[in-house]
Amino acid sequence: MKVLVPVKRVVDYNVKVRVKSDQTGVDIANVKMSMNPFDEIAVEEAVRLKEKGIVTEIVAVSCGVAQCQETLRTAMAIGADRAILVQTDQELQPLAVAKILKALAEKESPELMILGKQAIDDDANQTGQMLAAMLGWPQATFASKVELADGKATVTREVDGGLETLAISLPAIVTTDLRLNEPRYVTLPNIMKAKKKPLETFAPADLGVDATPRLKTLKVTEPPTRSAGVKVGDVAALVDKLKNEAKVV
Ligand code: AMP
Repeated sequence: MKVLVPVKRVVDYNVKVRVKSDQTGVDIANVKMSMNPFDEIAVEEAVRLKEKGIVTEIVAVSCGVAQCQETLRTAMAIGADRAILVQTDQELQPLAVAKILKALAEKESPELMILGKQAIDDDANQTGQMLAAMLGWPQATFASKVELADGKATVTREVDGGLETLAISLPAIVTTDLRLNEPRYVTLPNIMKAKKKPLETFAPADLGVDATPRLKTLKVTEPPTRSAGVKVGDVAALVDKLKNEAKVV
């Protein structure tokens, strides 16, 4: 069974980003970039399925600038067998990524695609859902457990009220939640091995995809700074402030 795992290069989760002075976005110049954490979980899950003998090939895919190669090498160091970079300097929105992934799904015919539930840069939480709709494949999002057997995936999902278990037929789309697994650390020998694994590059146009953005960002601003707290003398003063200043009671 072949699995395709899309991995996005994003600002590292430890970095505190700053809004650009012209409010067009956040400043990513000289900022540490890493694989989207939910995608690391997706690669780890695919590797565990391969170690169980269920999956035979794992293909990591990244869409974006040339430096996404580093993200793909990390995916291969975790255990992906090969990688595909769909290279463009254009801003890629979830719809464009979903179109690219659809074209790759048609080219590679995987039985399963495991994506992250969301990319931590734009927090869109859209790509997996759009991709499933465009391919006409079943989807199970926010997975905390995945089992594959008899051409079916049994997926436990984290929902508001607890856990939901779905059985979906393959080929299918699964998106990962935080508790699905804990990704392994990449070891130096595996980083070295990953350098020799195959990495193909395409442009969106090679796949027949127009990746032009459809949404326009009007402005990006910092969240309002929290004002300092005050100590109140007694309960009556607290109630007075809640009523007349905060107006919450
Ligand atoms: P999003 O819908 O942007 O929150 O992203 C959800 C998931 O889609 C991510 O966790 C990735 O698995 C995949 N994805 C989004 N953008 C890209 C990209 N540029 N390259 C590869 N995968 C992506």
